Amino acid sequence: MKEFDNESVRAIETTLNDVDRALERLRSANYRCCQVCQAPIDEADLIANPLLANCVAHPELA
Ligand SMILES: [Zn+2]
Repeated sequence: MKEFDNESVRAIETTLNDVDRALERLRSANYRCCQVCQAPIDEADLIANPLLANCVAHPELA
């Protein structure tokens, strides 16, 4: 089996870290709030992308 190259490993680690942070937010009360402006994130958007951390106004900071 071919081993992952370093870039792939980094991408996987980044995603897993995002999952960790999303789970932490889910356990706390602020999962549905934008990390920047605290506005509530649309539930449909969270179902489509459970790693979403920001509202539509701040997508670049996710
Ligand atoms: Zn926001």
